[in-house]
Amino acid sequence: MITEKELKENLDFVESKICEAAAKANRERNDIKLISISKTNPVEVLEYAVNAGVRVFGENKVQELVTKMDYFDAKGINDIEWHLVGHLQSNKVKYIIGRVKMIHSVESEKLAAVIDQESKKKNVITDILVEVNIGSEDSKFGITAEEAPEFIEKISKFENIRVKGLMCIAPYTSDPEENRKFFIQMKKLSVDIANKNIHNVTMNNLSMGMTGDYTVAIEEGATMIRVGTGIFGKRDYSI
Ligand SMILES: *Cc1c(COP(=O)(O)O)cnc(C)c1O
Repeated sequence: MITEKELKENLDFVESKICEAAAKANRERNDIKLISISKTNPVEVLEYAVNAGVRVFGENKVQELVTKMDYFDAKGINDIEWHLVGHLQSNKVKYIIGRVKMIHSVESEKLAAVIDQESKKKNVITDILVEVNIGSEDSKFGITAEEAPEFIEKISKFENIRVKGLMCIAPYTSDPEENRKFFIQMKKLSVDIANKNIHNVTMNNLSMGMTGDYTVAIEEGATMIRVGTGIFGKRDYSI
């Protein structure tokens, strides 16, 4: 398990890289939100991050997310923003509505409909991003870039969800430059969709870039980066 000191050093390093990439792209640091992806890490490690000032976490599994939200609620720490970033099954939506800041991974009309229904029941409006399978990989969820505009028009009819932008998980690569073209495509797609002025739809958020490629993503317009390993160290899936 990572130590508190190591985590703090990792965070400082990531922060310096974010600032560097933002400066290079002539962007403001504050226009980029760092989401700490804490999946598989025990709550003790999340507490190290909280001690270091982290208030924005992302998780990819509903049960794990709920356990962690409950833990911090019980401690009276209620200024944490939680993001659901992984594939979401419709039958689990009800556990997180009203508790998460944003759902990054909407990629079917059925899922959007369930989020809408559950949000109505709780009398809330849920902010979502549409997941785009930008590398057209068979192994990944998400709709294709071509389908995205029509898909978004379709789900914009749901009154209790708000489409706030796009998200992608770029292909795994050891050379982040290989993903630059995908980030450029994502940015262009979001601008094209914004220009359609669809009712209830805004495109101010672009969630892209992970440990291996977040600096390139920032250079190409990411407003949210999702960094796991770079902050928490290598994940241990055996626990
Ligand atoms: C795990 C995960 C991340 C973080 O990945 P790292 O490479 O560890 O930074 C980001 N986004 C999603 C959707 C994830 O599941």
